[in-house]
Amino acid sequence: MKRLITVLTVACVVAGTMGVVWLAGCNGSNSDRPKAPKAQAYLCESCGHKFGMSLSIPVKQKLFPPIVCPKCGKRTAVRAYLYVPKGGGEPVIYRYEKYTDKQIEAMEKYRDSTPVEQLQFEDPETIFAMEQDAPLMKYADEDKWFNPAKEPAKSRPFSELQTRFKNIIPVFPESWPIEKRDNLKQR
Ligand SMILES: [Zn+2]
Repeated sequence: MKRLITVLTVACVVAGTMGVVWLAGCNGSNSDRPKAPKAQAYLCESCGHKFGMSLSIPVKQKLFPPIVCPKCGKRTAVRAYLYVPKGGGEPVIYRYEKYTDKQIEAMEKYRDSTPVEQLQFEDPETIFAMEQDAPLMKYADEDKWFNPAKEPAKSRPFSELQTRFKNIIPVFPESWPIEKRDNLKQR
C-alpha cells in the first residue's frame, strides 16, 4: 500500500510539472488554453488575506507553508489550490496544503546542504513526497487537516477534479497580489 501511494504521489507531481510545461509551451498558439501559473496561491487562515508567491524564485530561497502572513503577521498562511469550475467563472479554492515544523526543518536542511544544480531536479518537496512525507491537506469544504500518507482514505479521487473543473493544473487568480519574496518569512 505504501508503495502504491508513493507511485501515485510521484505520478501526480510529475503530471503536474509536465502539465505546467505543456501549458506554458502552448501559450500564444491558443488563447483559450489556461496559461502556466505565475505564482503559487496562499491564503491566511487567521485573517483571510490572499496572495501569491512567484514561482520563479530560486529554489534556494524557497519557503514552505505555513509562512508568515504579510498582512496580519501570524504564521498561518497556507498554500491554496484553485481551479476554474466547469461552468466557468472565477477560480475557486479546492484544497489547502501545509507542512509540520518537523517537515519544514528537514526540507530546509536538505535544501541548504544540496548543490543548486541538483535541487533543480530534486527539490525538497518532491524528495519528501517520495519518502511518504507528504504535506498535510485540507479540502476547502471541510474543517480538518489530515495526513494523506497516514489516512489515504480521506483523499478524494483525482476524477473529482476532472468532473468539477475545467483544468487539472492549479490556476493563480489575476486579481490576487503577488508578494515580493523579501516580504515573506518562514517564521
Ligand atoms: Zn493574515
